[in-house]
Amino acid sequence: MTLDELRAELAVLGEKPFRAVQIFDWLYKKRAARFEDFTSLPKPLREKLAARFSLGSLRLADQRSSPDGTTRYLFRLADGQHIESVLIPAGRRLTVCLSTQVGCKFACAFCASGRHGFKRNLAPAEIVGQVLALEAALGQDLTNYVFMGMGEPLDNWANVEKAIRIMNAPEGLAIAARRITVSTAGFVDAFDRLSALDLQINLSISLHAVTDRLRDRLMPINRRFPLEPLIEAAEAYVRRGGRLITLEYIVIRGVNDSLDDADGLAAIARRLRAKVNLIAYSRVEGAEFRTPSEPDMARFRRWLEERRVNALIRLSKGADIAAACGQLAGRFLEKAGTPPRPAGRKP
Ligand code: SF4
Repeated sequence: MTLDELRAELAVLGEKPFRAVQIFDWLYKKRAARFEDFTSLPKPLREKLAARFSLGSLRLADQRSSPDGTTRYLFRLADGQHIESVLIPAGRRLTVCLSTQVGCKFACAFCASGRHGFKRNLAPAEIVGQVLALEAALGQDLTNYVFMGMGEPLDNWANVEKAIRIMNAPEGLAIAARRITVSTAGFVDAFDRLSALDLQINLSISLHAVTDRLRDRLMPINRRFPLEPLIEAAEAYVRRGGRLITLEYIVIRGVNDSLDDADGLAAIARRLRAKVNLIAYSRVEGAEFRTPSEPDMARFRRWLEERRVNALIRLSKGADIAAACGQLAGRFLEKAGTPPRPAGRKP
């Protein structure tokens, strides 16, 4: 619950609104795990809370670390579903990649999450719970929070927005909005609501192709929200005062790494005044694509820079622990008997 929702719940219980801030303090500052530990609250209120609410909806089911420091955490939810969060250390940054749905509706051809279909949206508690569970496991705060794990955040925007509000609230986790990034595959319908958000979070768009023909094949969401409407919605988002956009581009050898692709990507990036993150494709079991070599990546980046686009090569970390989106949870689903869908199938 957001602070306002909690105040409303307390009013129903006949309690004073200031108790909401005390409860947030126990949850998000002191990180208490049981209502009985909320010792600044009267005992009858603690008992009422325990009878009506529950704390902690995630249980750590598996954890795998790579020599490069990337760690993938698999969480079991109260209903037995599984999600994953990935911790990515880089210099002084400790970034977490958060999931927003169990599975995903959009079946991108290069992604493990979409291959097992969509199960359900995550509740705000299950989204914030990933942050709490990881910070408890690490014994320290994270520095950057990226909604780029399982699921499409804008397809579950109401719950993601609540989670962001709890994360950002000074009484909550007090995470600066500029440390939070929402990444979308191009769910244009939610861009207006995103623009209306009064928080300066970052937006990144997973582009991965610069023609509708190729994007339809790689990202079936493109059949619903094709490139031109997506770019126009992104332009409107920037015009309405959103922060600058980052374009994510997974480079797939022989598929989207030609000079024409660089031309198209540069044109879109210049239109949006966006910087580009290039990520080398990391192989997903069953997908037919190939990983580009380091010289291929360097050449593609050089083409972009020659076209006056700021491009960075992001390391594809943790490939040895199935760090590509959704692979660990996907393996669990396979074990549990949910066969993967063919890559790139229309949702
Ligand atoms: S890349 Fe994102 S939108 Fe595409 S299938 Fe994976 S989780 Fe879904």
